[in-house]
Amino acid sequence: MEKLIIEARVNEYATRTRNRNVPWLSAEIAADAIECRQAGASIVHFHGRDATGAPDNRFETCRDTILAIRASSDILIHPSLGYVTVASSFEERFGTVRRLSLEGATRPEIAPMDMGSVNVDLCDRASRFLRLPGSTYVNPTGMLVDLAKNFRAAGIKPSLVAWNVSFLRLIEAFRDGALLEGRLLVSLVLTDRIMIAGHPGTEQGLDAYLMFLPRDGSVLWAVTYIGGRLDALLDKIILAGGHVQIGLGDYPYVEDGCPRNAQLVEWVAERARALGRDIASPDEVRAMLGLRPRQPAAA
Ligand code: ZN
Repeated sequence: MEKLIIEARVNEYATRTRNRNVPWLSAEIAADAIECRQAGASIVHFHGRDATGAPDNRFETCRDTILAIRASSDILIHPSLGYVTVASSFEERFGTVRRLSLEGATRPEIAPMDMGSVNVDLCDRASRFLRLPGSTYVNPTGMLVDLAKNFRAAGIKPSLVAWNVSFLRLIEAFRDGALLEGRLLVSLVLTDRIMIAGHPGTEQGLDAYLMFLPRDGSVLWAVTYIGGRLDALLDKIILAGGHVQIGLGDYPYVEDGCPRNAQLVEWVAERARALGRDIASPDEVRAMLGLRPRQPAAA
């Protein structure tokens, strides 16, 4: 079976209320990414944050984070496009990544494209009732077409995010329309507790996605579980040939004594090895995704 890709989703917009180990600032994210790489992660996904934890997707912030990571690690870089759960413009979404991609030293290798729109209302943790008014993650198809073209021109691999099966259908349509090429990297979103927007984090929730994925090796699929623990599904994902995206951005793992991101990565890597599946290195992931080899400067 193909080696396992572990992506560390280090922060998203997670607070430090429940686990203080969520990295916010560039230096914190970089230290975390380097640790996660040593534990077995091959990709790091991060969101720029300021000292208060607020979103900070400025070019300078993302540049500093990427340079600090690459100074000490060969991990693949996958930044967010920013805080775009409202109807933001194309430039607001792509501007920072465009500037980062002008120089090899800061060019991200992967960036996200959420392939559809979805209501992402938060739920109250105790009552499980929706906290209203909520927000909508708006990703018009025309904007996704523009992103696909610009990602290709910049040499960036899209991380194609699916929140339900209809997103997979749009991915298929984009491939049929030659907007996506090569092996696709698809992230399957499961949600629980804090959000009901994705499929439920159960075997059935995952199977419902897998039934609609091609089985010809053209899609590398990975699971993200927002608001829930991956424990119950981890063996199934590993044994079915899937890949794992995990981190404090998605769940604080308070029950495990508030671990650091690297401990979560290590836990996944250990479980994979116990099940007989090896862990892919960053360079192996570059080859799997058809990405160009690392820049010589990135030692
Ligand atoms: Zn993210």
